[in-house]
Amino acid sequence: MTARRERSGRSRRSRPLSGRSVAVIGGGFGGLSAACYLADAGADVEILEKNEAVGGRASTLEAEGFRFDMGPSWYLMPDVFERFFEYFDRSPDDYYDLQRLNPHYRIFWKDGDRMDVTPDLDQVRAAFEAREAGAAEAFDDYLDKSADNYRRSMDGFVYTDRPNYRDWVDLDVMRAAPVGLQLLRTMDDYVSDFFDNPKLQQVMQYTLVFLGGAPQNTPAIYNMMSHVDFNMGVYYPDGGIGAVVDAFADLAGELGVTITTDAEVSEITRRREGFLVETVAGGEGEGRGKGEGESETRNPDIVVSDADYAHTEQELLPEHERGYSAEYWEDRTYAPSAFLLYLGVEGSVDPLEHHTLVLPTDWDPHFAQIFDEPAWPNDPAYYLCVPSATDDSVAPDGHSNLFALVPIAPGLDDSPEIRERYRDEVLADIADNTGVDLRDRIVFEKQFSVSDFADRYNATAGSALGLAHTLRQTSLFRPPHRSKAVPDLYFTGAFTTPGIGVPMCIVSGEHAANAVVSDHGRQPDATERDAGKSGAAGARRTVAKRLANGPLAGLSGLSGLFR
Ligand SMILES: Cc1cc2nc3c(=O)[nH]c(=O)nc-3n(C[C@H](O)[C@H](O)[C@H](O)COP(=O)(O)OP(=O)(O)OC[C@H]3O[C@@H](n4cnc5c(N)ncnc54)[C@H](O)[C@@H]3O)c2cc1C
Repeated sequence: MTARRERSGRSRRSRPLSGRSVAVIGGGFGGLSAACYLADAGADVEILEKNEAVGGRASTLEAEGFRFDMGPSWYLMPDVFERFFEYFDRSPDDYYDLQRLNPHYRIFWKDGDRMDVTPDLDQVRAAFEAREAGAAEAFDDYLDKSADNYRRSMDGFVYTDRPNYRDWVDLDVMRAAPVGLQLLRTMDDYVSDFFDNPKLQQVMQYTLVFLGGAPQNTPAIYNMMSHVDFNMGVYYPDGGIGAVVDAFADLAGELGVTITTDAEVSEITRRREGFLVETVAGGEGEGRGKGEGESETRNPDIVVSDADYAHTEQELLPEHERGYSAEYWEDRTYAPSAFLLYLGVEGSVDPLEHHTLVLPTDWDPHFAQIFDEPAWPNDPAYYLCVPSATDDSVAPDGHSNLFALVPIAPGLDDSPEIRERYRDEVLADIADNTGVDLRDRIVFEKQFSVSDFADRYNATAGSALGLAHTLRQTSLFRPPHRSKAVPDLYFTGAFTTPGIGVPMCIVSGEHAANAVVSDHGRQPDATERDAGKSGAAGARRTVAKRLANGPLAGLSGLSGLFR
């Protein structure tokens, strides 16, 4: 980690939101990101977070010398984090150190087979060829296409928000036609063009769990995740994803954002000028949240919600101000929830790696039990995370820190009896398939499942991830950043575009801030224009770049001035 740099750029920037106040509901990555961009654009920003700390689904659990990342544990797409910090004249290593994991992950198949995916692609090719003749060449071909899709998609659809049909009918999008066509095929169909071996198909498809989908319902465009996985690499931020949350919160503080925790928004009322936002003491404790605590009000000009879209609309707004009906939300496909076991364990858990997948050779029945006929999976595919394999600080000496994550259907009944039975099944499955018997050496244990997601995060249907990335819920088919019913109300986070996952939520914060600046930003005043002129072409390029790349991007009319 390098010494934190003094920020140099701020005084040069135009501050189109000066004089505006914004309440950001929820301090997940989307809320933190939006808050940073908005504060940088001059707004007076307050994050109102229900829980005891920001981070949202990326919360941290500390107990008995163990520190667990409760949600995300894979640091993927480092380019997105770099781009975010660079906008504020900073870099991730001003805040946290990253190390590339080797292997990226280990797979235990339940037939006894095992495979490591490492940064050395020659090893991966050999592992593919060993399982299917010709698969090494197919792997190269697949990765080339995936890298190309990544580049086109990031430029065309991720960093550029395209919320309307007309946004798709422009030259750039037409040029990306292969990407568009892949929206119409499913991942299982696409992958089977390259590999026959079901295990290799799984390796190319497991990343779909990051998107909350199944191979049968996720558009083929997400094959770009293999570029993320194999070419870009899997990283660990020292201190875990919690350290990244801290970095975002620190940056927000440096930009002047106020963070208020234990403040659950209970109502948003539109006024002639701005909003009345009511909060109650949040959190999960007795007498807190759900309207039982002490109440306070705020009067922001603008509201940006990072809380689940359905929760914000259905529970915080009066009926006539909702952009979507209850039926719309009932009719959505939600990403899986999860059964999570956070375990502090005596001794080593070798041969489990930092990231370990345990997969049945046929995982279709598990996906069917998530999406088609919801039930607790009989033969689950699951994930084990052992950060203590990389980081001594997450467990006491002589102990391991491990969590098990089984994706399950959202909305599933997770009574204590069911959880207890399932817990025993999962621990037995781990012992049977990895040889690591944890059962008589667990010194700390906490379970987290459907009802906890609903209670702790107001998660719709207790989903761990939000709206799945099915075809009808991708890109312009996701709910937009601007409320359809209430002026000056905006949305960020996993329910909006570009979608699920920490990197995507960071970008969604940028899009939401762009929309706010576009709708509310004042034009640069004479001094700012003069400053632009005095620097002649170079300075014009700087402003134009900011207009094109940052929260000012929405000012398309203005950006035309600089062309
Ligand atoms: C178990 C698990 C594993 C994951 N693994 C990965 C991974 O490895 N890599 C990856 O990139 N992504 C992963 N993800 C996905 C990623 O964590 C999420 O997509 C992302 O963090 C969601 O961010 P968000 O902006 O949508 O906000 P959220 O994290 O959903 O936060 C919303 C916030 O709003 C708050 N809130 C809700 N209602 C109110 C209210 N009324 N008033 C005030 N505050 C409110 C909530 O408390 C919460 O803090 C994982 C998620 C989970 C759950």
